[in-house]
Amino acid sequence: MSNLFAHAMKPPPLLSLDEALERLLQKAKPLAGVMSVSTFDADGCVLAQDLVSDLQVPAFDNSAMDGYALRTADLDLNQGMLKLGQRVLAGHAPSTLQPGEAARIFTGAPVPLGADAVVMQEDVVVVDDLHVSFKTVPVTGQCIRRKGEDIEKNTVLLSKGTRLGPVSLGLAASIGQAQLQVMSPPKVALFSTGDELIMPGEVAPHLLPPGAIFNSNRFFLRSLLERCGCRVSDLGNVPDDPEKTLLALAGAALDHDLILTSGGVSVGEADFVKPAVQSLGELQLWSLSIKPGKPFAYGYINNQADPSKRAHFIGLPGNPVSSLVTFLMLVRPFLLSLQGCTGLTVRPIQIRADFAWPKADKRREFLRVKFNDKGGLDLFPNQSSGVLTSAVWGDGLVDNLPGTTISPGDMVNFLSFTDLMS
Ligand code: AMP
Ligand code: MG
Repeated sequence: MSNLFAHAMKPPPLLSLDEALERLLQKAKPLAGVMSVSTFDADGCVLAQDLVSDLQVPAFDNSAMDGYALRTADLDLNQGMLKLGQRVLAGHAPSTLQPGEAARIFTGAPVPLGADAVVMQEDVVVVDDLHVSFKTVPVTGQCIRRKGEDIEKNTVLLSKGTRLGPVSLGLAASIGQAQLQVMSPPKVALFSTGDELIMPGEVAPHLLPPGAIFNSNRFFLRSLLERCGCRVSDLGNVPDDPEKTLLALAGAALDHDLILTSGGVSVGEADFVKPAVQSLGELQLWSLSIKPGKPFAYGYINNQADPSKRAHFIGLPGNPVSSLVTFLMLVRPFLLSLQGCTGLTVRPIQIRADFAWPKADKRREFLRVKFNDKGGLDLFPNQSSGVLTSAVWGDGLVDNLPGTTISPGDMVNFLSFTDLMS
């Protein structure tokens, strides 16, 4: 049991985001579980082994066009006119091309042995039922998709740690993979905390009791966790009560890889999450030098049934935008790292600010911005950490370094929500 900050006279210095991320990723050792899933169901999963092709793709030379296959040398001998031979459809095996003959061929059909080019049908005149003449002189290899030109045998097509998406699933299917070995999803327990929280549906909006608010974090956090490939146990809301907080955290630590909470990790008198973590395990990191998102906590909670096990703990701030930003900047890479995923970072792009941000802050800021039709960025007028509309209005965040002001025309680092929520 550790009481890292309980007796400290002064709060610890705020941690920079980069340092917090580095420390978090050191803790996020990939989980051991691997499972086999249907390629149909593997979108968003992380490959647990290299995907190596034991097939050439295409597996045979085939036509890139609807047209006529021929031996180019035959055209010189026959003044551009050839006898019409076989018809080759996709999925059907051709016979060898006879000298002086052209074969009617369709896209994807195997090129007959002996043919060395295909001429598209627009460049061919059908003279009669038995003859065709060619308007152009084809070059050898024209309109033929060569065996193996997409994928050679024994190439690593996708490496271990790749997060699968629609196109990579298609690629896996193109080499005949019906099942894929992927990392098991991290098991995440999700709690919100706060006596003020009411679930949508519990009361009609106009009957919301004084001081109560609807729980919004629970909805976007659960959805973001699922997008990050997690199996979520949504354990609901924990009231602001030290005993109930202890019970909830200790119970969740029994069978989850990560416990994620929102709210209750600040320094208020009703913030019981931090002391509960300190008494059930260890708080290893707390308070970030970012805005929004300062009250962020990381640690672990011991498994009381099995002393060899523990669950990671991450406490997010209660304010919705703070919760969102810290999830995107820290929890997302943490979860992907638990799945052994490579390529964790979202790279910022430089975009022109069409707004002023005249007051520099000591903390690194994440400003909600939106593209305008001049190709620059506009700023949402209210950057308060409680204003969730700013994030729905916005296309992403400007990552503004500490002590930095912004003038219209300055280039700023932009992180898109589409990337951050992928
Ligand atoms: P806390 O970090 O618990 O002090 O909460 C900070 C602010 O965030 C307070 O205004 C809370 O009411 C609000 N808040 C906490 N949890 C949620 C939640 N799940 N959904 C919406 N707002 C929340
Ligand atoms: Mg609270």
